[in-house]
Amino acid sequence: MGERIVILTGAGISAESGLGTFRDAGGIWAQYDLEEVATPEGFARDPAKVHAFYNARRENCRSAEPNAAHHALARLQAAHEGTVTLITQNIDDLFARAGAAAIHMHGELMRARCDACGARWPAPLRMAPEDACAQCGARATRPDVVWFGEMPHHLDEIFAALGAADRFVAIGTSGAVQPAGNFVREAAAAGAHTLELNLEPSEASPLFAEARHGPASALVPDWVAQMLGARGGI
Ligand code: NAD
Repeated sequence: MGERIVILTGAGISAESGLGTFRDAGGIWAQYDLEEVATPEGFARDPAKVHAFYNARRENCRSAEPNAAHHALARLQAAHEGTVTLITQNIDDLFARAGAAAIHMHGELMRARCDACGARWPAPLRMAPEDACAQCGARATRPDVVWFGEMPHHLDEIFAALGAADRFVAIGTSGAVQPAGNFVREAAAAGAHTLELNLEPSEASPLFAEARHGPASALVPDWVAQMLGARGGI
C-alpha cells in the first residue's frame, strides 16, 4: 500500500492568488476587528456588518484563481499511489476549482446556511440579514463558515487521518489557530514524518522534523515533483 499523506493548508497557500492572510500588514484582515466580523457574538450584534464583510470576501474570491500550489496538490491527489488527505483552514474555493478535494474544517465562503434549521445551499454573491431560509423561512441565514469560538467541522475524520499518517505536511499556516496548530503533534505522535512549507519560519517550525521556506507557488510544486518523481508522475 502507498504512503498515507496528510496535508494541512492555511491562508498562505492562497496569498499568491490575491487573497490576503491574517498577517499581511495593512491587509484586509488588519482593517477589521476579528471580534466584530468573525465571532457569533459579533454577528448577533451587527449582522449587516458581518454580511458586508463576507460579501466582500466572496467577491474577492470569485475574481481570484487557483495558483501553482493548488494545482500541484490536485496533481498529487490524482497521481499518488497511497492516500492524500487534504485539510484546509481556508474558506475559499480554490482547491475545488483546481480539481482537488479538500476537507474544509473552517467551512466554505461560497456556501450559506440557516442557523434555525441547518439547511445549507450555495451562497448568493450578496447575503443580507433580511434573507429568508428557502427551507424553513427563518431570517437566520449566515455564511457557512466557522467563527472563533465555534467547533471546526470534520474533526473525527481529521484526527483519524492524522493518527494513521505516514507523512504530514503543513503549508502556509502560522500554526496560531487551534486546533489545527496542534495537528503536527498528533501526526508526529503517530510516527509520521513532518514537514513545514511556509514563506518564513513560523512559531510552529520547531515542531516539524523538516522545514522549507519560500513562496508556496514554488515550494509546493517542487515538493510534489519530489513525491511523484520516483515514478515519473509529472
Ligand atoms: P495565518 O494568516 O495565521 O498565517 C499564514 C501563514 O502563511 C504565515 O505563516 C505566512 O508566513 C504564510 N505565508 C504568507 N504568504 C505565503 C506564501 N506566498 N507562501 C507560503 N506561505 C505564505 O493563516 P492560517 O494559519 O491559515 O490561520 C488563520 C485563519 O485565517 C484560518 O482560520 C483561516 O480560516 C483564515 N483565513 C482564510 C483565508 C482564505 O480562505 N484564503 C484568508 C485569510 C484568513
